[in-house]
Amino acid sequence: MMEKHETDKAYEEGHPLMTDAEYDTKFGKNATAEYVNDTSAWEKMPHPDKFGGASLDKISVIVGGGFNFSELLDWSRVHYGPYCCSYKYDGISVNLIYEDGVLKHAITKGAGNLGEDILRNVLKMKNVRSVLFKPFDINLSIKAEIMIDQQTFEEVLKNRYVNARNGAGGAARAYDGENAHHCSLKYYGVVFLDELNADHDYDESGKFEMLQEMGFEHVVWKQASSITDVVNFYNDVLDKRASLGYEIDGIVVTRQTYPIPKHVENGDRPRYSVAVKLPYSEKRSRIVDIIWQNGMKGRITPVAIIEPIELSGATVSRVTLKNLDEIDRLKIAIGDEILVSRRGDVIPNIESNLTKRTESFFNFIPASCPSCGKLVSVERPYVFCRNSACSSKALGDIKTWVNTIKDHFNYRGFADKRIEQLYDSDLIKDASDLYSLTQYDLILLPGIGEAVSEDILDFAKYTEIPFSVFLTGLNIEGINHKMAKLVSERYETFGNLIESWDKKSLYLGLQRINGFGDFRALALIEGLDAKHDTWYGLLEYIEVIPDKKPKGDVLRGKKILYYRYIITA
Ligand SMILES: [Zn+2]
Repeated sequence: MMEKHETDKAYEEGHPLMTDAEYDTKFGKNATAEYVNDTSAWEKMPHPDKFGGASLDKISVIVGGGFNFSELLDWSRVHYGPYCCSYKYDGISVNLIYEDGVLKHAITKGAGNLGEDILRNVLKMKNVRSVLFKPFDINLSIKAEIMIDQQTFEEVLKNRYVNARNGAGGAARAYDGENAHHCSLKYYGVVFLDELNADHDYDESGKFEMLQEMGFEHVVWKQASSITDVVNFYNDVLDKRASLGYEIDGIVVTRQTYPIPKHVENGDRPRYSVAVKLPYSEKRSRIVDIIWQNGMKGRITPVAIIEPIELSGATVSRVTLKNLDEIDRLKIAIGDEILVSRRGDVIPNIESNLTKRTESFFNFIPASCPSCGKLVSVERPYVFCRNSACSSKALGDIKTWVNTIKDHFNYRGFADKRIEQLYDSDLIKDASDLYSLTQYDLILLPGIGEAVSEDILDFAKYTEIPFSVFLTGLNIEGINHKMAKLVSERYETFGNLIESWDKKSLYLGLQRINGFGDFRALALIEGLDAKHDTWYGLLEYIEVIPDKKPKGDVLRGKKILYYRYIITA
């Protein structure tokens, strides 16, 4: 007798033990999906972001991809015009799957590599078409961006989300679907699922005309006969950007015609279409103070406290200055007027200093460590605290990380004394260093035989870390696993938490969690801030997954394989 959990597990792992109909008969509910689940297939699906070179993995704290101008010019030497240019809206991408002209699935990229079917919410959105008229009542996939306009965001959702895109993501995926009706769709792609092998060229402007004939509100687009026209389109977008009412983060430039690629499995398609990013929007502010905070590997990092400004929907009041070279480059001092951006809409950055002085930046280097008070050591471009007691805090952090992961995965691992040994021999100075160790690193250490060495190297295999386990492992004062669970229930993904990275809204959000409290809200914010380098480093190697798979429609949270590859423009 096959158990339900075995069946579920096999299903999750992509090799179902029975058909969905059999599953229904046997276990009574769930999984009426017509799709087989397979993560790798989802990963392989072409995604418009890939054209810009952006990676879809990890969370969205990395600066978004996209060509800059000189890259566009290089591209245009290989890919001749005419071109089509269109707006690239900054929302949540969704694939609308129509079967015989009826909207059956709305697939968006969910947590990690999972696809999520958010059809139930999409049906509530403003300009969705649930049925297509003839002759389009066939099998096709429509690509769209889910958007919330700036005004609706300000009026209705500002208290809950940090910016309009964040709001669109929340509304699109929310279990209760309560804000879905605030969303609208901007359509930009159409693929005929049964005609993929057709031997004809792709027609980009024809695509937009067809979307219009189908009744879809397509994105703003224009034909461009030469690269000069593309540049004019780009400049025009820059002028209009602030008054559009929606966030756009770039333009998409596509050759007017190109051959439909036969093989899309490996993602090596020629780039017939590229995204060109718009410059980040910048605002003026003033430096109020420069503070120093302890970070990774004994480093003490300068942080500018600035007069609060609104940037991309969030209040920014502190900006990292990274290191001494950055201070030197900016010639920065307290009182200076600066231009600040939020790169990738998330991480604040000082783009330039409008005041520019000549005095030496060495005036600003602290004499003593803000954590332990011992004298610091200046080793450009960094300032270090070389006090071993101070670094024992760092060692404690690594131990907590290892032990949290060990506990969660029930993995034997290695003892604390091994961590100390690795730390003392300079192999690891931060938790993320554990993920790049090699056999070669370990072989020379006394007392580490093959078995121990394998146990240590095995640690790097545990790469899918649930949100609450991740937070617990960061060793932030007052944030034990129980408290981390509360945070994970409120924010669902680490990406959501980080996207609210503006102290005020994060504080308000955390405060609202029942049983969490003011003290912990502050401790978490300060802790994440102080340990920024650590978690940022970890994200290079691990993926933070939600604690719970989203519930809802039968397909939600399931891994989905398309029987046919979907090509998008
Ligand atoms: Zn110190």
